[in-house]
Amino acid sequence: MTFSIHGLPVSRGIAIGRAVLVASSRLDVAHYFIEASQVSAEINRVRDGRDAVIAEIQRLQTSIVQMGPKDTPHELAALLEVHLMLLQDEQLTHGVKHWIKDRLYNAEWALTSQLEVVGRQFDEMEDEYLRERKSDLEQITERVLRAMRGISSPLIQPLGRGMRKPSQQDLLLDDTIDVPLILVAHDLSPADMLQFKQSVFAGFITGVGGKTSHTAIVARSLDIPAVVGARLASQLIRQDDWVIVDGEAGVAVVDPSPIILAEYGFKQRQNELARGKLARLLHTPAVTLDGQKVELLANIEMPDDAASAIRAGAVGVGLFRSEFLFMGRHGKLPNEDEQYQAYRRAVEGMQGLPVTIRTVDIGADKPLDDTARNVGYLNPALGLRAIRWSLSEPAMFLTQLRAILRAAAHGQVHLLIPMLVHASEIRQTMALIDHARVQLDNRGLAYGPVKIGAMIEIPAAALTLQVFLKYFDFLSIGTNDLIQYTLAIDRADESVAHLYDPLHPAVLRLVASTIAEGQAQGKLVSVCGEMAGDISMTKLLLGMGLRSFSMHPAQILAVKQEILRSDTSKLKPWAQAVLADDEPNRRILVRP
Ligand code: PEP
Ligand code: MG
Repeated sequence: MTFSIHGLPVSRGIAIGRAVLVASSRLDVAHYFIEASQVSAEINRVRDGRDAVIAEIQRLQTSIVQMGPKDTPHELAALLEVHLMLLQDEQLTHGVKHWIKDRLYNAEWALTSQLEVVGRQFDEMEDEYLRERKSDLEQITERVLRAMRGISSPLIQPLGRGMRKPSQQDLLLDDTIDVPLILVAHDLSPADMLQFKQSVFAGFITGVGGKTSHTAIVARSLDIPAVVGARLASQLIRQDDWVIVDGEAGVAVVDPSPIILAEYGFKQRQNELARGKLARLLHTPAVTLDGQKVELLANIEMPDDAASAIRAGAVGVGLFRSEFLFMGRHGKLPNEDEQYQAYRRAVEGMQGLPVTIRTVDIGADKPLDDTARNVGYLNPALGLRAIRWSLSEPAMFLTQLRAILRAAAHGQVHLLIPMLVHASEIRQTMALIDHARVQLDNRGLAYGPVKIGAMIEIPAAALTLQVFLKYFDFLSIGTNDLIQYTLAIDRADESVAHLYDPLHPAVLRLVASTIAEGQAQGKLVSVCGEMAGDISMTKLLLGMGLRSFSMHPAQILAVKQEILRSDTSKLKPWAQAVLADDEPNRRILVRP
């Protein structure tokens, strides 16, 4: 039966495919497709993992028998018996084989997919005792996964298959494996999302998350339809269900009827046509009707994203979120050489255009690795994040600074510092940059000149801009955090997403004053938060005087189209009126 789940729109477009449910992050595993020739090796891997756990349990049972009934609790013996039974269950084995043979999932993916299927059956059981056995099932799955880690995996490359758009027949016949896959999860970390750059998935849905959470940001950078904050999605959608993701409306349609499928198929084709039209603007300079030149820059997460920035016609990188090089490495930080090579790849990839490398912004919803998530402090967004973490770990920070300075020998590099708020932090940062140069001199390593900029993303920074203007060559407004900290709204929390309002007068005034004060002193001011890529904000930002926008490569052409249709001489007085209004939402709808 068709039903829909509502969430928050994250990334435009429509995807139609089969649901792949990802279990809790405890059981996070790699997802990739294998080749047909690797099927039996993968089935053997699961079998060997399972056999290893069975042998381990049987050893335990033997030692229990040797201890005698007096020394062993009855519950332990019963529990081991249950675990053995579950491991030897035919349904689990058959199911896993099905995912590997028929869908070509890798062994770990197959095992967790089957866990989802069997787990659901447990959830539906009337008997409470039996229902609770689901946690045993999870435990044994975890043990098998762990055992499999010790069993070498054949060398398999992710194939990125399954991306062909399904024909109506595919969908109706429902018997093909070569259809897009939609990832469904309760929660995904930004590091998880990075894995999906290999584009195994055509769309994704999460139960939690706000529109500017970093998970959503990475989804946008992948340019695949996505919906976040769709509560209950991972409970209501079942493994392998057909799902439509409407990224623009923020809706997931589950088990769609043929009529609904046809309707969305039509919308999909319309979207493709619109994209095709936009592509014609690729080589058109971004100039307004009254001749104002505008700089359109790209936000990237990894060095190889430089290629998509170039393809989208970006005139540089306005924000390279370097923290993605640090995440998902189990706390092992990249060394100077690794970082230098990564930054150099981005710089060379941009073919002489400038690259703005932001120093690491770890913390809040970007933990170093998943095990560090949700532990520690109640308000991580207000804690040891970004430059605060860097200054508390000077050896780590100096390593990064040296790597960036060395990359600057290969092209234009701008250095951007996140989350600054105190003059003392600015001075410490500058002293460390100087120190990094001295260290490189002492080691005889080449480095290049850099312009140094500050992110303005905390209201206190915007309100004391003159201090920043004394030290920095340029400013970049991080509207994602500026909104979060001005309105006291957690950007990653879907329950307050309706209050996360880029058009709140306080936010607009801080953005406008930062642009005006910065430009009055001849400094370049850019916006690199999600506001820069939102076409409903383009005219307002132009009216405020902004001439430099940094966004995901996929958004550049649509923003360019807005710019080409704009006349800043008309936008300026209109923007002033919007800024003076108590409820700017009303005015923004009628743009000149
Ligand atoms: C911002 O805060 O607007 C920004 C660009 O940085 P991030 O989203 O990485 O916090
Ligand atoms: Mg920020």
